[in-house]
Amino acid sequence: RGKSEGRNVYRFFEPGMDALMRERRALELDLEAALSKREFELDFQPILNIGSGEIVGAEALMRWRSPSRGLVSPENFIPAAEETGLIVQLGDWALRKACSVAAHWPPEMRMAVNVSAAQIKSGGFARSVISALAFSGLPANRLELEITETVMMDESDAVLKTLSQLRGLGVRIALDDFGTGYSSLGYLRRFPVDKIKIDRSFIRDLDRRDTAAIVRTVIGLGAELGITVTAEGVETEAQLDMLRKAGCGEAQGYLIGVPAKAADMSRLLRSQALLRQSG
Ligand code: C2E
Ligand code: MG
Ligand code: MG
Ligand code: MG
Repeated sequence: RGKSEGRNVYRFFEPGMDALMRERRALELDLEAALSKREFELDFQPILNIGSGEIVGAEALMRWRSPSRGLVSPENFIPAAEETGLIVQLGDWALRKACSVAAHWPPEMRMAVNVSAAQIKSGGFARSVISALAFSGLPANRLELEITETVMMDESDAVLKTLSQLRGLGVRIALDDFGTGYSSLGYLRRFPVDKIKIDRSFIRDLDRRDTAAIVRTVIGLGAELGITVTAEGVETEAQLDMLRKAGCGEAQGYLIGVPAKAADMSRLLRSQALLRQSG
């Protein structure tokens, strides 16, 4: 835009906002190039079955190792990828990668993959999942797709159809960040899910009486519905203790394990399988 146009002509392009938008556009362009430059990675965070004390799987978490920006958190690039639509390709890459990794894990270990609303609404999502399973050889019942409420907010009939189709194949659906949205209970009624993941903001405040009551109620709700409940962001023994007493099925968080490289997660799962065989 030429100087002659004058800044104050454009009410919506204040100087500060302009800089922010430029920065955002630069991020989006970098992101697009990053996929072909193979700058994305997946880390894997273990998920514990509280009752048995065993790791039952892991969640794949995306990272962007950018030469210019350093290691970028998904919180800082997923929203931009969603806005440009790049998330469809990026999510497809993550799905394929995660399935290939899990195919080499001991039997029964599950892989959880986060899925954005744009992916499911893109049309070819079910085909993309089926292709990732076929390509990797991972059985469908070892894949779990983590979705948030935003997936269910609109076009709910098409989404419902896609999710039902995948569930029919044996893929599990987990409701991520449960309790943070507008209508968690409503969506639970409308959409068939296999798992609830209680958002870590609740676990963080578990020492508060009201928060503990909410968490216990969600765990009870899961039991009534026959749905697995996983607590996210478990960082202390006290939190895990409380969750165990409340009958929570699974726990995930820094106390159990931080997100790890594929090779390290694989080693952990193998050593557990060996221990079980020998015990
Ligand atoms: P999420 O799916 O709810 O993943 C859990 C987040 O909590 C992860 O952050 C994880 O590293 C963090 N976390 C786990 N345990 C603890 C703990 O004990 N304490 C604390 N403070 N944090 C813990 P991360 O890896 O930064 O990912 C953030 C979000 O980005 C994810 O939240 C998910 O919504 C999104 N995301 C990550 N990977 C993907 C992906 O492949 N596709 C899509 N669409 N979204 C992704
Ligand atoms: Mg998740
Ligand atoms: Mg979550
Ligand atoms: Mg989240």
